Amino acid sequence: LKWVYRFGGGEAEGRAADSARLGGKGANLAEMASLGLPVPPGLTIICDACTHYFNNGRTLPEDLKQQVLDGITAMEAITGRKFGGGATPLLLSVRSGARASMPGMMDTVLNLGLNDETVQALGHDAGDARFAWDSYRRFIQMYADVVMGLDHEIFEEILEDEKARLGHEYDTELSAVDWQHVVSLYKQMIEDELGEDFPQDPYLQLWRAISAVFASWMNPRAKTFRTLHRIPEEWGTAVNVQAMVFGNLGTSSATGVAFTRNPSTGENALYGEFLVNAQGEDVVAGIRTPQSITEEGRLASGSEKPSLEKLMPDAFAEFRATCLRLESHYRDMQDVEFTIERGKLWMLQTRSGKRTTKAAMKIAVDMVDEGVITEPEAVCRIDPPSLDQLMHPTIDPRVERQIVGSGLPASPGAATGEIVFTAEEAVAAEEEGRKVILVRIETSPEDIHGMHAAEAILTTRGGMTSHAAVVARGMGIPCVVGAGSMRVDMRNETLLGIGGAVFRRGDIITIDGSSGQVLKGAVPMIQPALSGDFGKLMAWADKTRRMTVRTNADTPQDARAARSFGAEGIGLCRTEHMFFEGDRIHIMREMILAEDEKARRAALAKLLPMQRSDFTELFEIMHGLPVTIRLLDPPLHEFLPKTEAEIDDVARAMAMPPAFLARRIDALHEFNPMLGHRGCRLAISYPEIAEMQARAIFEAAVAAAKKTGEPVELEILVPLVSLRSELDYVKTVIDQVAAEVLGETGVTIAYLSGTMIELPRAAIRAHVIAETAEFFSFGTNDLTQTTFGMSRDDAASFIPTYQRKGIIEHDPFVSLDFDGVGELIQLAAERGRKTRPDLKLGICGEHGGDPASIRFCENADLDYVSCSPFRVPIARLAAAQAAI
Ligand code: PEP
Ligand code: MG
Repeated sequence: LKWVYRFGGGEAEGRAADSARLGGKGANLAEMASLGLPVPPGLTIICDACTHYFNNGRTLPEDLKQQVLDGITAMEAITGRKFGGGATPLLLSVRSGARASMPGMMDTVLNLGLNDETVQALGHDAGDARFAWDSYRRFIQMYADVVMGLDHEIFEEILEDEKARLGHEYDTELSAVDWQHVVSLYKQMIEDELGEDFPQDPYLQLWRAISAVFASWMNPRAKTFRTLHRIPEEWGTAVNVQAMVFGNLGTSSATGVAFTRNPSTGENALYGEFLVNAQGEDVVAGIRTPQSITEEGRLASGSEKPSLEKLMPDAFAEFRATCLRLESHYRDMQDVEFTIERGKLWMLQTRSGKRTTKAAMKIAVDMVDEGVITEPEAVCRIDPPSLDQLMHPTIDPRVERQIVGSGLPASPGAATGEIVFTAEEAVAAEEEGRKVILVRIETSPEDIHGMHAAEAILTTRGGMTSHAAVVARGMGIPCVVGAGSMRVDMRNETLLGIGGAVFRRGDIITIDGSSGQVLKGAVPMIQPALSGDFGKLMAWADKTRRMTVRTNADTPQDARAARSFGAEGIGLCRTEHMFFEGDRIHIMREMILAEDEKARRAALAKLLPMQRSDFTELFEIMHGLPVTIRLLDPPLHEFLPKTEAEIDDVARAMAMPPAFLARRIDALHEFNPMLGHRGCRLAISYPEIAEMQARAIFEAAVAAAKKTGEPVELEILVPLVSLRSELDYVKTVIDQVAAEVLGETGVTIAYLSGTMIELPRAAIRAHVIAETAEFFSFGTNDLTQTTFGMSRDDAASFIPTYQRKGIIEHDPFVSLDFDGVGELIQLAAERGRKTRPDLKLGICGEHGGDPASIRFCENADLDYVSCSPFRVPIARLAAAQAAI
């Protein structure tokens, strides 16, 4: 098998496209070498060798060694140096390089090949004995750490003692003789600690270093990083063995890193830092302050230290030209590492540079203007979820975070405020102009006013589709849910965090809804700004996508926000949320607790004008765009009073003895309300509720049509259907009311009646249900809950364990389970369309704002996705990418 790919001397066996085999670093070194750029010669041992290493008791493949030896011979020929001996020794670097960038997670050995003899030759050859001994001690330190498992701290201690003994403060003050002595102390230490000598055989050094770098693929740091970034373990890492070049060979040498454009603003200007007379790790270590590469950058930073442009004009000119060449070759902003050895430039790495969302937008738009990339390519360059950075304040990445707890990142953005434990307190505080964070074990619809008043919400229970999560996303306020590491003690009004942190009412915390972290105190924030680049990119995205993007909006406020983010209609209006505004809850309770139809109708008559005015406003805001209104869905107990005090209050308002009311409430109790008397089951038990809602909808549609002159595109949605006969029953009620309103007003309102597909039986029987339904809206929250048999409100207590143990890859309430729930969607879409070819299909579960799920919807040929207002831009972009 070919384990080794060589590069150098103007040619290479690999290419940039080979990163799955050669790793990112190796593939790009090969690409640069074949472009004729100055790359020190080397070889890449492919990722499969890493897999082989772990599958064979941590041994290297037999035939690998000869291939490496041949590669070294080639390197010797190109450099005119000899590995392991001679007057001009060749030294090697041995570095990891996985397919995905894993910065700093795995190990590296530099200056390999030095021993008691080659150090002398290196000193002669370089004309600098100090440099040679310094390099040798660096090598021993790194090798002992990476290969022999000795903590590098113990070497630092030896060095510090030695500097103290000599009366020196800085490493630079040590002479060749001093370093030579340090080397002998290091070697002695290794012998004392391990009972073996530091290996003098360069080949032995090499094989062991290669093995150690492969082994570092499995170190705990790398494993954690892979879990966080979903990098498969099977990928393995490649190893790059390359001729060393030295940035620490005096004042005409330097080493640095640069971006071909500014990674934080996107400005088209070379941006980077370097150090004179230093090796790569000195830049990263941050011991010396690096200098700016360009004169412009130096002036901007106000630094006195000369730029590379001034200091080494020739090397700089070549470097700048190389950066331009790389950028136009890769057609993207590059992040490069380089070294200048005695005036000669060497490129050590290139890759696509990480950037802020703002920079990503600017770079993509600029590159279209420059004719480098096409508009669809620009659309694909932006990671949709990163748009969050533009819509919400975010925590300044430069500040240190004092984390006191963490949970699920339920709604993005960050906010600071005083802790309050009840919705009432939140409202009171807001009236006084104070900013608060509402902290609850979990929230219920009764907390809605407090949630509105709060800057952010924190719950210790609940998952990504829990009440708090759904509502906060809808409102666009930051939210962390299911913070299991924290505890709310309602009786003592305290919040307990990790590490024994205790917070009381009024204490300040910060919620980072993008990471799920809870931080102590206030933290500096970066405010959002939507640039002109954003507008351009979104316009390109809109041109490209096939699916429309609607929003889930329950209130005029949500609807307006969503319109401003580009929503093309309402895909779901959850009417129940309207019943929690102001005093409506009382009338709602009257309705639910009514003992007979007559009393129920009396209460409904009071709700009718309220619903009508809500709908009229929604229709006006949506102005001719489609609006989907869903009939009442939640279990009624959600509206009922719970505590004794509440029951007393309600009893008084309803002129009922409290004990009688308590009995009524008991009678309505359900063991499993999520699967109980909810959805269309309510409309079937109490058709007068559906009648009232339908009347409010049609009268509002008439009013809005008169006012705006544009009829709304009305869709009425029946929830939780599993039988066609259920839908038939409710549709009859709707059609009857429509005919009545038509008769009364003489206005014709076109409308569609459809159903949620959110129960497995409905998906399976879609061809039958489509005989009645004119559209389907996939309610993937309930469909996930019922397909898995996992309660959406309780899953957060075990999903993280499932993920940690590798049982499940991602939370199915966040990103659609393609294999199970997805197959039901596909099946329902196909069966439904067979019956009714023009059946309209959409999704309104939380997955409608998740890019991977949106791609699935594109492939399943849905007509639209609907998501919370602040996710509308993400969905627009993701839908465009899915269509490209
Ligand atoms: C769903 O079940 O996916 C849905 C959108 O409805 P709700 O979240 O209101 O149950
Ligand atoms: Mg549902």
